[in-house]
Amino acid sequence: MKVKRVEAMMGRPEGLKLIDENGKRLDGRKKYELRRIDMEVGVLKNADGSAYVEWGKNKILAAVYGPREIHPKHLQRPDMAVLRVRYNMAPFSVEERKKPGPDRRSVEISKVIRGALEPALLLEMFPRTVIDVFIEVLQADAGTRVAGITAASLALADAGVPMRDLVAACAAGKIDGEIVLDLNKDEDNYGEADVPVAIMPLKNDITLLQMDGYLTRDELLEAVKLAIKGAKAVYQKQREALKEKYLQIAQEVAGNE
Ligand code: ADP
Repeated sequence: MKVKRVEAMMGRPEGLKLIDENGKRLDGRKKYELRRIDMEVGVLKNADGSAYVEWGKNKILAAVYGPREIHPKHLQRPDMAVLRVRYNMAPFSVEERKKPGPDRRSVEISKVIRGALEPALLLEMFPRTVIDVFIEVLQADAGTRVAGITAASLALADAGVPMRDLVAACAAGKIDGEIVLDLNKDEDNYGEADVPVAIMPLKNDITLLQMDGYLTRDELLEAVKLAIKGAKAVYQKQREALKEKYLQIAQEVAGNE
């Protein structure tokens, strides 16, 4: 368990209730309610694919380059493309300025995000190349890895990288003894557990499953099921965001005729 969680649980303000007697959370949500999520595809002119996701107070930008020639060359694979992922938090993304550059957490998150995206990509179609995915967290409020996966998957689709399915992600967790969907920062800080999950919805394949905190086996099962439900709702929003981009292009083309 993260030292951060232990410290936070110990530093929890006295009398703070994460769920009130009416079942409402600190931000007014019900137990199984997602934060507000907005997505936009194709937001950067110079990347091959891009997406911007606002998820509650999280603000996340994803950019994709490739498939393109890989440098340094010795990293190339003769049978498939290499997928490189960099998750980065801006210094101004959190309350106290974060030191710029990679740290243990961002290296770990980059790695698990790569693992979550890789099964969806037809990397074998592009041997000896690289696909680079950059995830920039501009503002963070817990759940940035699931929001980052969601944005990166959209950016990959926007770049035209052939995919088996989109990857959609969402977390569930436990606060004040209750399993709830999509923890925000206070809930993540003072709650008992957080379970981020990523799926490829067409085949119900799970590509990321992590757990931070304490849960019984039954609670973990309940949290995973709930997170999958959340991810399916996220998936619908991803599809709409992708369609929206092509509707706009179609309208522009029709306007020019
Ligand atoms: P996730 O963002 O995927 O939930 P974590 O559970 O590691 O990942 O982090 C939870 C939240 O803690 C982040 O979204 C962010 O709001 C906050 N956080 C993470 N790292 C820092 C940091 N270095 N300084 C301040 N807040 C941080």
